[in-house]
Amino acid sequence: ALCFIDLDNFKKINDSFGHSYGDEILKQFSDRIGEVIRVCDTLSRIGGDEFILLVENIEEMNEIDPIITKIQTIFNEPFLVKEQKFFLSASIGISLYPEHGLESETLIKNADAAMYKAKDAGKNTYAFYTLDMTIASYERIGMENALREAISAKQFLVYYQPQIDFKTNTVCGLEALVRWNHPLEEILSPSRFIELAEETRLILEIGAFVLEQACFDLLSLRKEGLFEGTVSVNISGVQIEYSDFLKTLEHTIEISGVDPSLLEMEVTESFIMNDPERWIALLKQMQALGVSIAIDDFGTGHSSLSYLRKLPIDKLKVDMSFVKDIPQREDACAIVNSIIDLAHNMKIATLAEGIETKEQERYLQEHGCEQGQGYLYAKPMNVKDLKVWMMNRHKESCKNP
Ligand code: C2E
Ligand code: MG
Ligand code: MG
Repeated sequence: ALCFIDLDNFKKINDSFGHSYGDEILKQFSDRIGEVIRVCDTLSRIGGDEFILLVENIEEMNEIDPIITKIQTIFNEPFLVKEQKFFLSASIGISLYPEHGLESETLIKNADAAMYKAKDAGKNTYAFYTLDMTIASYERIGMENALREAISAKQFLVYYQPQIDFKTNTVCGLEALVRWNHPLEEILSPSRFIELAEETRLILEIGAFVLEQACFDLLSLRKEGLFEGTVSVNISGVQIEYSDFLKTLEHTIEISGVDPSLLEMEVTESFIMNDPERWIALLKQMQALGVSIAIDDFGTGHSSLSYLRKLPIDKLKVDMSFVKDIPQREDACAIVNSIIDLAHNMKIATLAEGIETKEQERYLQEHGCEQGQGYLYAKPMNVKDLKVWMMNRHKESCKNP
């Protein structure tokens, strides 16, 4: 059996505490694992936090279970580096010879695929290789190639979803939402490709395109006198972490000539709260350019209240998972009320996402939420449909002022 062992969240330790901590943990890990494996087994480190354990003379799949259990026990005690305790776990993928491959390369590749399955299953666990993992990885490669081609073939579109100001009942903003006009399929929503785009960093190009397109579309709507509000653009953590996003933003503002106060950047709560200290300065620099910052999917991302206070934020977007359950469910109402209160105390606005019913709208309005977005008003639309929608809405409001 070939066990591909990958430490969970190891990168975080390196990033937050420095490589000397990471190195020390790797040493302690190999010492500990050396004590639980048999003399005839072989342990090797193949890079970073990835280890391979070769377990010999395994006749049946279930013979490996006790060995894995033993490996997992080494994580029961924290790892100690310079008085700092670290609780770790590992994800393990297993391939068996000869069922899952005859050559070392295949066995390693398949154990690696199984390791990803274990990570997906919530880390700290193990998984055996199965054939569908190879199919999945072929599909992934196919999808990745298609995504690359989509960028050069300019297959991405930007849709817009209106945001309503409750006090004035006007459209105060538009959220830019990317779509993939796939040549062989219907128009694909981000849930089908954003994750892969992030993993492959293709999101850097896609995200820059969406930002630029949103600026130009905003200018066109303004020129036609259809809209005076803001446009919000979703920014992936990958763009912030792996590109000079500030430069991209500055460049886009410059070439489009858009007034930066009409731009809002949406960053997710989970990304920011992962390492808030690291992003405070950048968010402040973004605000200094004149754009505003909204925290997206708020309520789902373990906010630290002390950081929330320090972060430069203009708006909280209440996640639709809570909006969905108001006013029926007490717990959802309690969370929504608390988010609105929190925002008010911080002197920032709230926008509720995913409003589908009048009842939800009424509840939110009564509880002091300032803005809303959802199918109740409109689904995301392309610019052409949006213009028609805007004109109709304008006509309606002239009829019933
Ligand atoms: P999000 O930023 O939270 O966007 C809101 C999502 O909720 C959109 O899905 C929107 O179509 C959907 N939605 C709006 N109102 C309703 C409603 O009343 N009911 C229901 N059930 N859904 C509603 P969409 O367009 O599929 O986007 C999904 C996510 O993909 C977005 O969530 C955002 O996180 C991400 N995304 C979209 N465009 C971009 C982009 O250009 N860049 C990046 N990095 N992420 C993007
Ligand atoms: Mg958003
Ligand atoms: Mg959201």
